[in-house]
Amino acid sequence: MLTEQDIRSLQAVLGEGKVFVDHETLEKYSSDMGGFCRKPSAVVKAFSVEDVSKVLRYCNQRRIPVTAWGAGSSLTGAVVTDNLILDLSNMDRILKIDTVNYYVHAEAGVVLDRLNKELERYGFFFPPDPASSFICTVGGAVAEGAGGLRCVKYGTVKDWVLAVKVVLASGEAVVFGEPLAKNRAGYNLAQLFVGSEGTLGVIVEVWLKIAPLPDARLRRIYAVFDDWRDAGNTIIEIRQKRIVPRMLEFFDRVGVEAANKFHGTNLHVGEAMLLIDIEEFTGKELEKLVSVLKHNNARVIRVAENEEEAEMLLQTRASMYLAIRATAKTVLVEDVCVPIDRILDYLEKVKQLSQKHGLTISMNGHAGDGNIHPVIFYDPENPDEVARAEKTVEVLVQFAIEVGGTVTGEHGVGLQKMDGLVKQLAAHNGIQTLYLMQKLKKVFDPNNILNPGKYIDVPWKSSESTSEHPTQDSGSSDPTAR
Ligand SMILES: Cc1cc2nc3c(=O)[nH]c(=O)nc-3n(C[C@H](O)[C@H](O)[C@H](O)COP(=O)(O)OP(=O)(O)OC[C@H]3O[C@@H](n4cnc5c(N)ncnc54)[C@H](O)[C@@H]3O)c2cc1C
Repeated sequence: MLTEQDIRSLQAVLGEGKVFVDHETLEKYSSDMGGFCRKPSAVVKAFSVEDVSKVLRYCNQRRIPVTAWGAGSSLTGAVVTDNLILDLSNMDRILKIDTVNYYVHAEAGVVLDRLNKELERYGFFFPPDPASSFICTVGGAVAEGAGGLRCVKYGTVKDWVLAVKVVLASGEAVVFGEPLAKNRAGYNLAQLFVGSEGTLGVIVEVWLKIAPLPDARLRRIYAVFDDWRDAGNTIIEIRQKRIVPRMLEFFDRVGVEAANKFHGTNLHVGEAMLLIDIEEFTGKELEKLVSVLKHNNARVIRVAENEEEAEMLLQTRASMYLAIRATAKTVLVEDVCVPIDRILDYLEKVKQLSQKHGLTISMNGHAGDGNIHPVIFYDPENPDEVARAEKTVEVLVQFAIEVGGTVTGEHGVGLQKMDGLVKQLAAHNGIQTLYLMQKLKKVFDPNNILNPGKYIDVPWKSSESTSEHPTQDSGSSDPTAR
């Protein structure tokens, strides 16, 4: 734990205006956007790689846990701590935009929307666009391996990371990867940091691939269905017809009604809605899509008539979670993700769980990736409701694993999905993969100061062990050691 002496030492090492222990600052960093809360003991704002090195070197020597902070938009508790927060948001320079080698070099604290605004001036973009892109940082997006709306066509952050500069727990700054179109030299350690959730090192700079803005007309379509099965079948048929939308999002009645209230809009509401972006190159793409929508009984097919309407529809999606949260006492956002051909089973399962447990569950999100987010409404002061919400999550997690999906499509593990991660690895990959991850963590962070107690920092349970598996502490019969 941090002592007063530690605070004084950090102030001495870093200089004025970088170490904060006042009530207001600590409160500000006390929760993430998923509602996970822990009050830090101190917040350090880094302005340079050197600052980050100094903090980590000191904390490593003193065994003080450090949690990197981008914008705190995590939904899983990954970013909350009762120890030291290291805020990277002031390291926000875009260092280079290379329009020949197609990459952008930026500091970790650059907000994604700002990055894209700047890239747009050169005719380029960085495609992964979490719905939090108005606030989240590139460092946070890489550390979370974030997905987003355009990922159905362009892939997630992992597909766009070329290299990262990382400050290791020891304080040493290292670059993994190169900003090259091809590079086969050594293990791909840059990718190890994608989805590392601040547990392997602090990302201070990134080199991200960029793409030319497509020379196509973007059409945005809002379709309304009276039966959610029709919307589900549309998703399947879009893929079977080899239509590749640039966005394919699902909303339900609860979501759109909340959005209408939140924004004062008047969007058509049915049992299920799809928001679809299609890039028109030949002029035939929209026609093909509309015929799929009609074939699946869409009651309303609205093609945005102008930029203003298109933007309004996008904002409806981007702020859907905030709109829903505004209508509920508390919500729990789920992130299970299923193979796309199981999307109807998934929607059905959620309907059943909602009825069985008497809970409102709103389904919204990335339908084209099998990653529609159930948002479970519950009253935290009602223990019975809390138990039912927890049971719902447990069954959903089990369902996702059984159908070959994942416990987290994009939000990551944090505190929320530690159990689920173990279950998925045990069922799909073999529990020895968790041992290997824990060994890797030790190589990078031998004193376990980087965001400890989360993610893969799980105690072993006998149910996941075979007779050969050790408890976490014993380390004596680790199967990966054989
Ligand atoms: C309204 C809303 C919509 C969202 N939509 C999406 C979505 O569509 N897709 C999606 O994937 N996620 C989504 N999220 C979740 C979240 O916004 C993303 O995971 C985002 O990438 C987190 O970025 P951040 O900068 O806020 O990171 P933070 O929340 O600050 O941190 C997240 C994790 O990354 C670590 N970290 C942060 N910066 C660094 C760094 N420089 N070096 C090392 N580790 C670091 C933290 O320690 C923590 O473990 C949404 C959240 C909200 C509130």
